[in-house]
Amino acid sequence: VVMQAGRIVESGAVAEVMSAPSHPYTRKLLDSVPGRHGFAAPEAVESRDEAPLLRVSNVSKVYFGQPRLFSKAPQEQLRAVDDASFTLRRGETLGIVGESGSGKSTLARMLLGLDAPTEGTIEFEGRNLTGATAAETFKIRRRMQFVFQDPTASLNPRMTIQQIVAEPWAIHQGVLPREQWRARVAELLEMVGLKAEHADRHPHQFSGGQRQRIAIARSLALNPDLIVCDEAVSALDVSIQAQVIDLLKELRRELGLSYVFIAHDLALVRDFATSVIVMYRGKIVEQGPTAEVYGAPRHDYTRRLLAASGAETGSKAA
Ligand code: ADP
Ligand code: MG
Repeated sequence: VVMQAGRIVESGAVAEVMSAPSHPYTRKLLDSVPGRHGFAAPEAVESRDEAPLLRVSNVSKVYFGQPRLFSKAPQEQLRAVDDASFTLRRGETLGIVGESGSGKSTLARMLLGLDAPTEGTIEFEGRNLTGATAAETFKIRRRMQFVFQDPTASLNPRMTIQQIVAEPWAIHQGVLPREQWRARVAELLEMVGLKAEHADRHPHQFSGGQRQRIAIARSLALNPDLIVCDEAVSALDVSIQAQVIDLLKELRRELGLSYVFIAHDLALVRDFATSVIVMYRGKIVEQGPTAEVYGAPRHDYTRRLLAASGAETGSKAA
């Protein structure tokens, strides 16, 4: 049964509805499934010779279990991220994929400086994040923004959209004079496909997809170089997923943004990322340009992920 705006627009046997949808909305939904039409090759990246935006060297994160009193057993350890190394160049989009629990969010938090690595170093434009002073960290933060999975949890329900999008300017003073906030919020909202008059509403007055657009508008407020998206579209339905990805692509083109884009769905990353990392139990088991990883996966786990998402045939996803 396919529903739209509270009404059943189509119903029938699965095979029938899938292969011969009669309602335009059903066709639109099916069209939005990632990989259904094969994949567009991601845009090439220029200026390969400049210093990478992000360099991650041998980074690990170890979580320790509860120490047990009177027990001689060694304390339990979990290597949530184990010896990860990669670089991200300006303009690139790095996709990080792997099943739930593989260490993706732990890695994302370390990239953003929200959590410190147990071992290894992370450099942003050659500056070490781990050794940075508070003032340096504050400056670097401005250039790296994030969009998380759940826009309901990441947007304060008591604030208006105006306050939410303008908040970074209140924190990073001197970036934009207060009298320009109103106009700039209006511009940012229009940039992400919303309207200027939405600024006076509250988050609950928007749909999930719209809320994620608001989170993206806020992430753009400080003109960042890098946006880390952790499962940013995973909670959205497929047609909205495609719209938000299109928006991210457009912003990449217009603003020259770089992304780290984390997802558990391989198909989603395929026509968006320029390179891909596959994580499995904290380890990077495969990495390379998107076309190579998808075209000739070396690791068994990558092959299994590809098979599971239907990304390898480009049509099984539906
Ligand atoms: P993913 O984002 O790929 O689903 P996470 O990075 O959230 O994976 O988690 C990786 C592993 O680290 C999981 O086994 C998780 O339980 C564990 N983990 C994450 N955060 C903590 C924490 N703060 N303390 C202890 N273990 C954690
Ligand atoms: Mg996660």
